[in-house]
Amino acid sequence: MTDRDSRKIVIFDTTLRDGEQSPGASMNLAEKMEAAGALVDLGVDVIEAGFPIVSQGDFDAVLEISKNVRGSTICGLARCREADIDRAWEALQHAERARIHVFLATSAIHREFKLKMDQEEIIRRAVEGVKRAAGYTADIEFSPEDASRTEADFLCRVVEAAIGAGATTVNIPDTVGYSTPTDMRRVITTLRERVPNIDKAVISVHCHNDLGLAVANSLAAVESGAGQVECTINGLGERAGNCSLEEIVMALRTRNDHYKADTGIVTKRLVPTSRLVANITGIQVQRNKAIVGRNAFAHEAGIHQDGMLKERTTYEIMRPEDVGFAKTDLVLGKHSGRAALADRAKEMGYHLEHEQLDDVFRQFKQLADKKKEIYDGDIAALIEQQIHTGGERWSLVSYHVVTGSDETPDVTLTLAHGDEQFTKTMSAGDGPIDAIFLAVEEITGYTVVCKDFNVHSVTVGKDAQGEVMVQVEYQDRLYRGRGISTDSVEASAKAFLNAINRIAASTTEAE
Ligand SMILES: [Zn+2]
Repeated sequence: MTDRDSRKIVIFDTTLRDGEQSPGASMNLAEKMEAAGALVDLGVDVIEAGFPIVSQGDFDAVLEISKNVRGSTICGLARCREADIDRAWEALQHAERARIHVFLATSAIHREFKLKMDQEEIIRRAVEGVKRAAGYTADIEFSPEDASRTEADFLCRVVEAAIGAGATTVNIPDTVGYSTPTDMRRVITTLRERVPNIDKAVISVHCHNDLGLAVANSLAAVESGAGQVECTINGLGERAGNCSLEEIVMALRTRNDHYKADTGIVTKRLVPTSRLVANITGIQVQRNKAIVGRNAFAHEAGIHQDGMLKERTTYEIMRPEDVGFAKTDLVLGKHSGRAALADRAKEMGYHLEHEQLDDVFRQFKQLADKKKEIYDGDIAALIEQQIHTGGERWSLVSYHVVTGSDETPDVTLTLAHGDEQFTKTMSAGDGPIDAIFLAVEEITGYTVVCKDFNVHSVTVGKDAQGEVMVQVEYQDRLYRGRGISTDSVEASAKAFLNAINRIAASTTEAE
């Protein structure tokens, strides 16, 4: 039970900014909108939607989320530079509640090697940055980057100056994931004891998981008085990722007796949101992942099962339904209507616009003709396909492959680009899929290196849809593609084209 006197911890989600920096996890605008909607349903207080100055794609995402998403504060990241801060505000100005997050590195190693600035210069820049942001909004977060490796005296001076200039949240990032819980406790305690105006701001932490300590470090910070935790769904993020939202939230909820702190998160939305983000990014969570992994509540040992049957609390510290595990996978079929599909999609965390729902419903009906029972996994795959392929340049019209053991395949492939169609006939490759990939490269003009290719069935049964995920490298960047079909060769072609389309979209943007 949650104590009534619990402190409320602000949950700052950075799945769309830091999480998106996971290699291969970049999301397009439609995907970010989908995730933002799910984060609001989940009850996160602040959504860090992007870093507007770094690319047009980031800017557009922050702008669209600010215009359309209601219910959470929308935050944009900026360095302590005028152009960054102005651009962040340009993207944030339509938000219901907007926060500008400015950051500047403070540790000796960053000062000396990256910024080439002395301590006084850093303080001057921090104050100027916060003041410029304060001209736009009253909600300002300041992060001294690499704070956990910054000398205590200097960190206190920077934080005091930033709060004096108008920062309402000061965030302590463990940028390189080097801290231990003891370090974290010491930093937060030092700030609370030595920064005279610290009560004018919320202390936040942003922990990376390089040593697997991100959640433990964040909890230690909360214990020492931090009022905000920065985290991501499924712990996504650069390298080993960030503090995982579902873990920190459930630790605070389950051990409220100890922490006397809680969050505004609707915990029943944890599993659906985790799945939605995994589907969108193509990065699945491992089975034994705490809280949201498929095995998180599976009691396999006989002696445990016996105990569970007699009294659940013997081995269960949380109930699966509290984090949103559905008891049964609801099955839809041929006779299910549009409303039933809409309902199911909403339950799974998707917010489909009228036309999107029409499209998905049409595909749902086609699929229901091919297979009897339609599971959640099928619906998610159809919706993801719809979102992922929105506005694609190249699409598959038809393929024809003739091949056999020890034979070079003959392939004829037709693709559409706008109103035009292009056909290529060739004899090449090591099998039907390789042959199609080569033909796609010939037609589109993009040559890539295939880094990963996997096929899995979306649900159970021989008639299940196959989902293909590919990861390709183009000019030193990773791109992923996804395709589904009851025909796995067609699914492969679609996945490869999806990756090519992502390359085309991001390279034309950069030009
Ligand atoms: Zn980070």
